[in-house]
Amino acid sequence: MIGEVTQLAERLWMLRYQPYDVNVTVVAGEAGLLLVDTRADRVEGKDLLEDVRRLSATPVVAVVNTHWHFDHVGGNLAVLAEFPDVEVTCHVEAARELSEAQAGPMAEQLADVAAPTSTFSSVRVIDLGDRLVEVVHPGRGHTAGDAVLRIPDADVVLAGDLVEESGPPAYGDDCFPLEWPGSLDMVLQLIGPATTVVPGHGAAVTRDFVRDQRGDIGMVAATIEHLAGQGVSAADALRAAEWPFADEVLAEAISRGYRQLPAMGRRLPLA
Ligand SMILES: [Zn+2]
Repeated sequence: MIGEVTQLAERLWMLRYQPYDVNVTVVAGEAGLLLVDTRADRVEGKDLLEDVRRLSATPVVAVVNTHWHFDHVGGNLAVLAEFPDVEVTCHVEAARELSEAQAGPMAEQLADVAAPTSTFSSVRVIDLGDRLVEVVHPGRGHTAGDAVLRIPDADVVLAGDLVEESGPPAYGDDCFPLEWPGSLDMVLQLIGPATTVVPGHGAAVTRDFVRDQRGDIGMVAATIEHLAGQGVSAADALRAAEWPFADEVLAEAISRGYRQLPAMGRRLPLA
């Protein structure tokens, strides 16, 4: 195997790959295989398919991209090349973000990424015959279009990059730091005491881990709101408080958080 494989439940595997320490999950049903994320490019996607073939002879029938970032969508084309009828699904905002990025400065890196063939807005179910997979958009956080998947019969939740194990949460220039805690509260509703949670990167985790990370992400949001309320500027925010993450992790969180603050002191006209 090219990736590091962990069987999480019957006919359900987590595949962990370098570079990026990124996870792909394979869910098998009577109707075929669902792949959740496809690695970073076409070559990595082909390697992924080689591993998948060793796990199951069943054809791939569906792909879900947890969000638009290249390390999760880059292998879509490799999957489509081998399984032309596969449905590639992501959240409607993830599809928009991907197509915008493909027209922007990242065009070259994303040129080879196949767009989704369908999108969803809040929830959908993927029917694998004898097994249903729930796909949920819990709100904005790591990106505007994060998708979380739940396989109820296996008690497994796939959190995408809303949860990170091998590094701190990735606050990029497309994140929603003030909304992220609320989205994780929604994800926590899907996670029970024995649930296995697959993060976007790193080892599988438990509810306690997600709750702790939600606490830190909530602290970032609350600190931004508090400092802004005190009149502290975004430029001074890092030095003005204790933060749960290193400075370099917080740069985009602070700048985007400040820009996304609700307008304060606004009053309805009384007459
Ligand atoms: Zn990401």
